[in-house]
Amino acid sequence: MFEKILIANRGEIACRVIKSAQKMGIKTVAVYSEADDGARHMRLADEAIPIGPPPASESYLQIDRIVEACKATGAQAVHPGYGFLSENGRFAEALKAAGIAFIGPDVRAIGAMGDKIESKKLAAAAGVSTVPGHIGVIADDKEAIEIARGIGYPVMIKASAGGGGKGMRVAYDDDEVREGFSSAKNEARSSFGDDRIFIEKYIEEPRHIEIQVLADRHGTCLYLGERECSIQRRHQKVIEEAPSPFVDAETRRAMGEQAVALSRAVDYVSAGTVEFIVDKERNFYFLEMNTRLQVEHPVTELVTGIDLVEQMIRVAAGEKLPWSQDDIKLSGWAVESRLYAEDPYRGFLPSIGRLSRFRPLPESPTMRIDTGVAEGSEITLFYDPMIAKLITYGPDRDGAIAEMRAALDGFDIGGISHNVDFLNAVMAHPRFREGRLTTNFIAEEFPDGFQGAALSDDDYQALVAVAALVHARRLRRERSPLGVAGVFVERDWIVMEGKERETAIRLADAVGGIDVGLGDDTVELRSEWRPGQRLFEGEIDGREYRVLVDPEASGYRLTYGGAQVTLSVLRPKVAALARLMPEKAVADTAKFLLCPMPGLLVSVAVEVGQEVKTGQPLAVVEAMKMENVLRAERDGVVGTVEAKAGDTLAVDQVILTFE
Ligand code: ADP
Repeated sequence: MFEKILIANRGEIACRVIKSAQKMGIKTVAVYSEADDGARHMRLADEAIPIGPPPASESYLQIDRIVEACKATGAQAVHPGYGFLSENGRFAEALKAAGIAFIGPDVRAIGAMGDKIESKKLAAAAGVSTVPGHIGVIADDKEAIEIARGIGYPVMIKASAGGGGKGMRVAYDDDEVREGFSSAKNEARSSFGDDRIFIEKYIEEPRHIEIQVLADRHGTCLYLGERECSIQRRHQKVIEEAPSPFVDAETRRAMGEQAVALSRAVDYVSAGTVEFIVDKERNFYFLEMNTRLQVEHPVTELVTGIDLVEQMIRVAAGEKLPWSQDDIKLSGWAVESRLYAEDPYRGFLPSIGRLSRFRPLPESPTMRIDTGVAEGSEITLFYDPMIAKLITYGPDRDGAIAEMRAALDGFDIGGISHNVDFLNAVMAHPRFREGRLTTNFIAEEFPDGFQGAALSDDDYQALVAVAALVHARRLRRERSPLGVAGVFVERDWIVMEGKERETAIRLADAVGGIDVGLGDDTVELRSEWRPGQRLFEGEIDGREYRVLVDPEASGYRLTYGGAQVTLSVLRPKVAALARLMPEKAVADTAKFLLCPMPGLLVSVAVEVGQEVKTGQPLAVVEAMKMENVLRAERDGVVGTVEAKAGDTLAVDQVILTFE
């Protein structure tokens, strides 16, 4: 076994690999860029070596520097994580030349699977079912249209070198093929330096289901069940689970056996993933094989009990896998949520800044958190916006989802925008609960973006009770700094949500909490909450609740179950006056198109005097290597254009104005 390994990565996956290495008694070496000086992965490792400036191309992608770091520290093997150099054949070769083991497959398998066109050919030859389409490079848009017509609309235009959802377009007619072909080609050229494009049938109502494989150098190649990864936004996974609610034992075996056949065809060793797209009739088609550890590997670990990173290290050291296929049993259910630094309330725009709070609930056998950040960490624009993964486990799907909702409700994050409310809203969504998933779920269920989840009446009443308890305890603290019990607080209050909704309540002290009378109902609330705490934990009518409490000028902003409400708790006389107060005027930003994030203005699609319709593209801003199309929020006429293509824009900088 190795004595020391280097992790050629950063963030949560570097920390994840270090964890298994430490468990195995192996020393670890981290590498870090200038932007990651002091980062969690660097602190967890036994040694840390700086490898260059913040941009990945100058640090985490520098093969020579990483090989040098191995030599300098005596690391005998490298785990590449995912992304960066994990699927780079030249990197695997450079390590081999230096006599360092690569904790992953052989160069030949990486090369064979690194290219979508080549891997599709290989899969077809190995008897794996592939998406109908044209397996070859397409010269120009004329040929693209011809091929698309031959396949039949809709089609998917893809970059052969693609990854991470980039260089991919769906087309429903000739015009969309023409447009999609050139934009996919451009994106592929700028992202991958390789603009080969191919076309296949677009599978409608598709699910993304993938098989985890694990193979050693002694002829064992196993499939470890599937993961369902259909909850995606713009072809990027957001929520994954294992097993899939859609896959029966027979389909699982068929998919597993094809995945193993493909792996054997390229003499695959280590952990790998064969991705399939599955239609509503449970026909499945090969998409691609990822020759590395996947982001969502923990859900497989929880249902199989196998530590994939440990096995990758053992296989790389030449060990034999201790199982045969019959030993692999799936038990229970696991769900993973990806926490992104983005603002779901503002079109999922990337968010950066310092994490002033980062307090997940403690880990437990049913809740795991994989993260590369800690309170005080800086989130920058240089790297992946995913800051943590929450993984929960239950005996069945409902159990795992309930654990996830609790974990999301109890996660206290501050300083940056994040998608916790959105994840929570998906968990609560009836269609998600029923397991009726497709990769279009988010686009279909949140067509106008995200405005917060809807609260049930019971949950709303619970939040009214929380506001009452918070208010009563704060008042008591103010009136009796030494905490003398029994200080008088009023019994009758009005809880107002702006002017939209009011609830008259009657308060009674109870042991460990309060009873809140609402008309004929009584809500019993028990909690240890103390003023100053942001996380409220308590029992409301016998159910466990976790609510984030943010005092605001006019009341308390409560965040629960993906919803945010601001409630003010007022004496009836004050409430009567509040009803008469004029509404605060909201600043009118409707007359401007503001740049929602720092970025580069790629193009402006409209000119002065032009009439625009809601949803019409106005400008394209590039940020974090993604092109973001800014669309008109309402009908109008363009008044002035204030910025031009090539300009670097700040947040809220005016791009154009409306008349
Ligand atoms: P990448 O390598 O960029 O992740 P993939 O080929 O894995 O690209 O596809 C990513 C996602 O795009 C899939 O999970 C699926 O949602 C969608 N997708 C890919 N190919 C098709 C297709 N032929 N039909 C429908 N959806 C597809």
